[in-house]
Amino acid sequence: MELRPAFSREDATPPTRPADAPYDLALRPKRLAEFIGQGPVVANLRLSIDAAKSRGEPIDHVLLSGLPGLGKTTLAEILALEMGSTCRTTAGPAIEKPGDLAGLLTSLGRNDVLFIDEIHRLPTHVEEYLYSAMEDFRLVIMLDQGPRARAVPLQLHPFTLVGATTREGLLSEPFRARFGIHERLEPYEAKLIAEMVARSAGLLGLAIDEGAADLVASCSRGTPRLANRFLRRLRDHADVAGSKTITMAMADAGLARLGLDENGLLALDRKFLLLLERAQDRPMGLKTLAVALGEEERTIEDVYEPYLIREGLVAKTPRGRVITPSGRELLTRAGRPSKDAP
Ligand code: ADP
Repeated sequence: MELRPAFSREDATPPTRPADAPYDLALRPKRLAEFIGQGPVVANLRLSIDAAKSRGEPIDHVLLSGLPGLGKTTLAEILALEMGSTCRTTAGPAIEKPGDLAGLLTSLGRNDVLFIDEIHRLPTHVEEYLYSAMEDFRLVIMLDQGPRARAVPLQLHPFTLVGATTREGLLSEPFRARFGIHERLEPYEAKLIAEMVARSAGLLGLAIDEGAADLVASCSRGTPRLANRFLRRLRDHADVAGSKTITMAMADAGLARLGLDENGLLALDRKFLLLLERAQDRPMGLKTLAVALGEEERTIEDVYEPYLIREGLVAKTPRGRVITPSGRELLTRAGRPSKDAP
C-alpha cells in the first residue's frame, strides 16, 4: 500500500463540530427541498410542517438521532425556517441547571424551535424540568431561597423542541416519550454525497469534475460534514493551482495529503486495526483503546468505530472490540507501515 503522509492531526481526524462551524453554516441547505437524501425523514417532516402550519401550531417535538455530521442541526434550522420562525441553539453539556434552560425557554417566540444538540448529555434534573415545558408550555421558576422561596408558574409561547443525539439509547424512556416525532438519520450513499460535494463546490464558486466528486464521496464514510471538510482542503489545492475546477488529479493528491489511504482509511483507523490485531484474539475495551490511540472515548465511539464496524473490519463483542478476518486481510494487503504503529 502506498502510504501517504498525514497532513496534520486536525485534518486527519473526522471532524466533529467546532473547527467546521463557520464553514458548515455557509454550506447548510436552508430549505427542506435543498436537503439531499434521507427521503423518508424528509417526507415525514414535510407532513409535520404542513400540518402544523395549517393548524397554526408549532411542530410536535422532534428527536433526531444519528452519527455526527449527518444533518441533524441542518434539519432543526430548516424546520424553523419552514415555519417562518427562529431557531435557538444550545447543547446538552452547556445547560447545567434549570435556570440556564429557563432563560432560553422564556426567550422563545411563538412556534420557535429550540435545538438542543447532544441532548443525551442533559443533566437529569434539567431534563425533568423540561417535562412541563414540553407538555403544556409551562415552567415553574423558583424565586428566593430558604423559607422565602416561592414557586412562580410561567406560561411560555408554544414552541418545538428539537433534540439531537448520537446515542438515543442513553435517553430516559419518559424523556423519549415526550417527543412526538422520532427520526433517525443514516449515513448517505456515495452518489448522494457526490451530489452534495458538487452543490458545495458550486456554493464556493468552484466546479468539480465528476470523478473527483465521486472520489471525495467514496472517502467520506457517508457523512456530509466529512465530505465538505475534504472539499475545503481541495479548494486550497485549486486556489494554489489558480484553477476554478477541482480535477481528479487534485482530488487524488489532496486526499493523499490528508493521510487517506486507498482504502479510505485515516491514520487513526489504521492504528485502531493494528492495536486490535496485536491483541490477538483478546477483545479490547474502549478505555484501553482510547488511551492507546490518544483520543477521547466518545470520539472513538461516535466517529471512528461506527465506520470500521459498518465496513466489517471491526466487531463489537460483549467483552470488547476485536478485529474481523476482513480487517486482518486488509492489514495483510496493506503491509504494516511502521509510521502507523501505535
Ligand atoms: P449534525 O448536526 O448531524 O452533526 P450538521 O447538520 O451540522 O450535522 O451537518 C454538517 C454539514 O453537512 C452541514 O454543513 C451541511 O451543510 C451538510 N449537510 C448535512 N446533511 C446534508 C444534506 N442532506 N444535504 C446537503 N448538505 C448536508
